[in-house]
Amino acid sequence: MRKTTMFQWTCPKCGKKELVLRPIVLDADAMPEAAGDVREDRYFRVRCSACGETQDFLMHMLYADRTRRFLVALQPDEKTPLSPVPAEALREGWRLRLVRDSEDLADKVRALESAIDDRLIAVAEYLLYRKIRPAMPAGSVMGMTVFHEGDGGPEVLLPMEIAEKGYAMGKDALTAARLAELESAYGKALAEDRETGFREIGRAWAAAFVESQEK
Ligand SMILES: [Zn+2]
Repeated sequence: MRKTTMFQWTCPKCGKKELVLRPIVLDADAMPEAAGDVREDRYFRVRCSACGETQDFLMHMLYADRTRRFLVALQPDEKTPLSPVPAEALREGWRLRLVRDSEDLADKVRALESAIDDRLIAVAEYLLYRKIRPAMPAGSVMGMTVFHEGDGGPEVLLPMEIAEKGYAMGKDALTAARLAELESAYGKALAEDRETGFREIGRAWAAAFVESQEK
């Protein structure tokens, strides 16, 4: 699990070419510092040694957490096939997730590291988005929902820029009471939801899941 790939990155500002070395599989237990950078969404940043310009440089990678038994495949380009699933992950029924960019990867790793089911977190993220969206005036911009462990416990945040009003933050605190409420509404259906290889458990999945429960 220690093989690396070498990429060439060209600085968009001055044209200098840099070589970037990245593991094919990022083993979180063996590389705790890199895992921390992934979680904070700064792992993919490349800095030009000539002019200092920085840019995110994404590539295909598997993020593996043996302790918590999950794998997240980062697949920014849908045309490139996914890396094969390591045999032990298949044998032991690890959770397999698929993401498209570094922000999604960071959010997914934080969700899979928490004690809460990442599918329930995706549902909470979607419900917050769906609640706020109709109240947004035209010209507003909504960011991506973020899951994190706040000082007061786990929560889902939704950053947004409201037209003519400025920045605001939507929030759903995942307290024990809130989790019990989500669990009673969706727990049974989640128990019936089967893992089927790498899945993108994000807003589109949660929307389809929530709406199937409302029929
Ligand atoms: Zn440069």
